[in-house]
Amino acid sequence: MVSVATLGSHCALQVLKGAKDEGLKTILVSEKKRERLYKRFSFIDEVIPVDSFEEVLDKKCVSILERNDAVLIPHGTLIAQMSTRQIESITTPVFGNKWILRWESDRKLKEQLMKESDLNVPQSVPNPKKIKRLVIAKRHGAAGGKGYFLASSEKDYLKKRNILVKQGLIKGDQDLYIQEYVMGVLAYLQYFYSPLNETLEFFGVDKRHESDIEGLARIPAQQQLGMDYISSFNVIGNSSMVLRESLLDEVYQIGERFVKASKRLVKPGMNGPFCIEGVYDQDGKFWSFEFSARIVAGTNIYMEGSPYSTLLYDTPMSMGRRIAREIKLASKSKKIEKITT
Ligand code: AMP
Repeated sequence: MVSVATLGSHCALQVLKGAKDEGLKTILVSEKKRERLYKRFSFIDEVIPVDSFEEVLDKKCVSILERNDAVLIPHGTLIAQMSTRQIESITTPVFGNKWILRWESDRKLKEQLMKESDLNVPQSVPNPKKIKRLVIAKRHGAAGGKGYFLASSEKDYLKKRNILVKQGLIKGDQDLYIQEYVMGVLAYLQYFYSPLNETLEFFGVDKRHESDIEGLARIPAQQQLGMDYISSFNVIGNSSMVLRESLLDEVYQIGERFVKASKRLVKPGMNGPFCIEGVYDQDGKFWSFEFSARIVAGTNIYMEGSPYSTLLYDTPMSMGRRIAREIKLASKSKKIEKITT
């Protein structure tokens, strides 16, 4: 009987609770310092204690996962703590498409996939001299928004870049990706694509709470003007949101275009959960600045299902449970290789 495994962090609780609700065995690869937390939850059947998550590649861990016929669910922590090469070398079946995770981590590939998906992507700025209006400078990789800053001119950019260099957060311009800043309402669109029945499900939308940029709005302009301030977009938590119903048709189209382009560019395509992240501007136009090619932590808000999953399922359906259901179905019909890489 197939089982579900994941790393102890990010959305592990949601994923394993969902797997248990679907009647599957659950396995957690946990750093020893976190075992105390995870032991509190009875839906976790087995814990593999490790000193570092890289041990998921080691023989000992691999053989336990193999013995349990485990499918490994990748999430943000896997991407943040392991290199693309390490992820690609995982021999345990990985849910979804492990090859597309490289496209998530590399800004150039990321932009390419979003453009091929015909998404509106904010203009990237090739070098600081070309800054003509408000831009956001982002660090490469899964930096989680730490050390990102806004700049409205080359001079402003250089000043802030130099401070980050001094703080040791970056080495120089090569570590930054500059993109035009889009003002509006941020929305993080959560989807699930099933390669078994070839359908896209819109699962929910969330907001992210980012520190300390969010705190800036609480300070009067007078005080802001006097500050020698570098913003940061460090995600602290998420909260729920629903969209105007008139936006939903486009939301589905955005997801479908992304799935179609992924099939073309990164075989076997965008299978399983993913998220397209962006901003609705003053005309209600959606600008995508980012995607995550695996489950996002924003789905943790909807452990009992979201307003949108309720429209699709009669049982409370979290993203974790949806993943487990897909695994169960694939296992029953002997199609595990269709949903894993
Ligand atoms: P990212 O790492 O691309 O997800 O960016 C982290 C955060 O920076 C996002 O959650 C947004 O708050 C903000 N952000 C990134 N790109 C843009 C953009 N082009 N316009 C406005 N805000 C952005």
